[in-house]
Amino acid sequence: MDIKAPRGVRDILPDESWRWAYVLDVTAKTMADFGHSEIHLPLFEQTELFSRGVGDTTDIVEKEMYNFTDRGGRNLTLRPEATAGMVRAAVEHGLCAQGAASRLWCWGAMFRYERPQKGRYRQFFQIDAETLGVSGAVADVEVIALSAEIFRRLGLRNLEVVLNSVGCPKCRPIYRDKLLKHFSAHKGELCKDCLVRLDRNPLRLLDCKEPGCGAVANAAPAIYDCLCDECAAHFEDVRNGLSGLGFRYTLDKRLVRGLDYYTKTAYEILSGDLGAQNAVCGGGRYDNLSESVGGPHLPGVGFAAGVDRIVLIMEEQGCSFGQCPQKEVYVVAQDDTPAVCNAVLSLTHRLRMEGIPAEQDAGDALGKKRSAKSQMKSADNAGVTWACLVSQDESHNIVIAMKNMNTGEQTTARPEEVARRVKESYNI
Ligand SMILES: [Zn+2]
Ligand SMILES: [Zn+2]
Repeated sequence: MDIKAPRGVRDILPDESWRWAYVLDVTAKTMADFGHSEIHLPLFEQTELFSRGVGDTTDIVEKEMYNFTDRGGRNLTLRPEATAGMVRAAVEHGLCAQGAASRLWCWGAMFRYERPQKGRYRQFFQIDAETLGVSGAVADVEVIALSAEIFRRLGLRNLEVVLNSVGCPKCRPIYRDKLLKHFSAHKGELCKDCLVRLDRNPLRLLDCKEPGCGAVANAAPAIYDCLCDECAAHFEDVRNGLSGLGFRYTLDKRLVRGLDYYTKTAYEILSGDLGAQNAVCGGGRYDNLSESVGGPHLPGVGFAAGVDRIVLIMEEQGCSFGQCPQKEVYVVAQDDTPAVCNAVLSLTHRLRMEGIPAEQDAGDALGKKRSAKSQMKSADNAGVTWACLVSQDESHNIVIAMKNMNTGEQTTARPEEVARRVKESYNI
């Protein structure tokens, strides 16, 4: 076939999708334990939500968004991230109307037009949690603890919280000026992207991956002595909260989020051995996002984690994904008489209704029934524990030979006995 999946997107095939299901199961349970309710958001929103909410000076809005006009002439965008949509939904439906925290989570596909590389796709999947409507540090500590707990339950090694504050509109301009002065004095050492960023958003220079820029950024002033009283107290409360829960954290003055709406707390969680650490999630506080998209004042804090990336890191670290779903029984027709075929169909269905994963032959592409021998081959390939060979005896009774594929032992059973005998074999 000439038609392939578009560049930068991929199929999650059955040998991987069960690992995803495991990650999402663990995530859903942890979210529930922390009081976060699941929400399903639309995959596309009005373009304005992201251009105003994510910030025009970010790479996402400048280069990476999938924008389109629908048949009604509306400007729409495939969501590049979930937070803006979450805030939009919470405001639209009055989820924070009670004045208390609204704890939400979602997961699903996000879209960014980036250069595809290993572990990075143009359609990627994120887990996202947000606590909306409260400004105190308790919410920040809870969100950080929630993300760390998901990764602990998934078995990721050596988890470490990396923490910073990005200040607020009151104190950030002071820091911005300091940074502008510092980076301007080293213009010759900066990459060309950073030269453009310098005037528009000098904070972005701190997380440039180019070695030249990195050296200049390492020598840059830290935000800590620029923080206003409110931001400094909040930062202190978050640090105390994390210490109180026994979390290992380090401060990193170069940790800034790529998105303009972040205020105060910014954090990442790293996993892996020293020198080979990977960021498994990033998040922080965004007290001004709602207002920047025309909503009421609605403080929030949250995190996002990429599912593709989590699965990849779990595989690298040899983490368990639980049990791969197994087929238990393959029901084989010994001949193609109508009585036997009907008995195969009804036995398979009966086992499935009992919660026993069962399979039968569905014929070939031309609609022809396959021989008993090739059905046994399929049973072998499927790795089932039991093959149930269905036939008719001389007095036209249906008889079933249950073959244990592990031991080779074979016994006969009536159709109504098969489910019970399979279940009994679990307990041996
Ligand atoms: Zn401040
Ligand atoms: Zn740079």
